[in-house]
Amino acid sequence: MKSLELLLRSNIRGLKPYSSARDEYSGEAAVFLDANENPFNEPYNRYPDPYQRQLKERISQIKKVPTENIFLGNGSDEAIDLVYRAFCEPGIDNVVSIDPSYGMYQVAADINNVEVKRVPLTKSFEPDVDGLLDAVDTNTKLLFLCSPNNPTGNCFKARDIEQLLITFQGIVVLDEAYIDFAPDKSFLSRLNEFPNLVILQTFSKAWGMAGIRLGMAFASEEIVTVLNKIKYPYNVNILTQQKALELLKETDTMQKWVNLLLEERTKLIEQLKDFQFVQQIYPTDANFILVKINNAKSLYNYLVDRRIIIRDRSKVSLCNGCVRITVGSPEENSQLTDALKAYNDEQ
Ligand SMILES: *Cc1c(COP(=O)(O)O)cnc(C)c1O
Repeated sequence: MKSLELLLRSNIRGLKPYSSARDEYSGEAAVFLDANENPFNEPYNRYPDPYQRQLKERISQIKKVPTENIFLGNGSDEAIDLVYRAFCEPGIDNVVSIDPSYGMYQVAADINNVEVKRVPLTKSFEPDVDGLLDAVDTNTKLLFLCSPNNPTGNCFKARDIEQLLITFQGIVVLDEAYIDFAPDKSFLSRLNEFPNLVILQTFSKAWGMAGIRLGMAFASEEIVTVLNKIKYPYNVNILTQQKALELLKETDTMQKWVNLLLEERTKLIEQLKDFQFVQQIYPTDANFILVKINNAKSLYNYLVDRRIIIRDRSKVSLCNGCVRITVGSPEENSQLTDALKAYNDEQ
């Protein structure tokens, strides 16, 4: 890869970050009179740990990654925004992304006034490695990959991801939001091999904590230091840090949910096969299914009338006529399939 110095925006390279009271003294003490906090209303009166040390220790145990390689943010969305702000000079630099993929890569680019060069996936939803590399120019700082990909649901071949990591001279952001549902291994265990790799994971999906807003980025210590420098000082609030620590005590619960959802996914796919209006069910490694439908809009509206909401993805590139269905609880899925049966009978 190019040196980090060269990849970073010049204002970020030289940035002196805000130094909070909790930065200057972070140990234990009897009396804290350094942050203009109110002494009453414990524990919410205190600013949270800006580096979420306790939470990172726990995540480090679970993920088997040193704490120095972990960045925590207000959802992975924060990390997505921060990589733009760290590396992309507005109006000058650009990024390359697979298409279709997660909408936030484009939105964060638009907010930061950074061009996204979208390179279509192949017909079988694989990354076009040569196409992606051809799209790179001297101002390309980031390459966005997502595996399993949203909305297509499939994992990419490790070999393709590897080739992109090795050949592309900028930062590769590999979004693994759905990795806990996938049979494929995370790239986390290979973080050391690739200094230009930023892996995004989240507590919003398999861990069932979308409401507390907590996302992870794993990267070299140098990159994590940069992200920490430019984030809001107290980006992960006390309630989120406490709740996450509490929920991370039980890792088996998460695995139980994943297993149940995978069983439900199999059942749902079997049932979908029986409907005449279903043209194609794409293979999935995630907790959702992309399905090509005769008339996506009509099905979507039919389900909305029955208070069941799926995602109409029919206008998304390569997803013509498709809907994306999240795998729900057994009860929710049977409500869905009952409604789909009724729809099928009316066609
Ligand atoms: C859901 C999702 C996320 C999660 O974002 P958070 O901000 O952590 O909730 C990230 N990436 C992809 C591809 C997703 O589908």
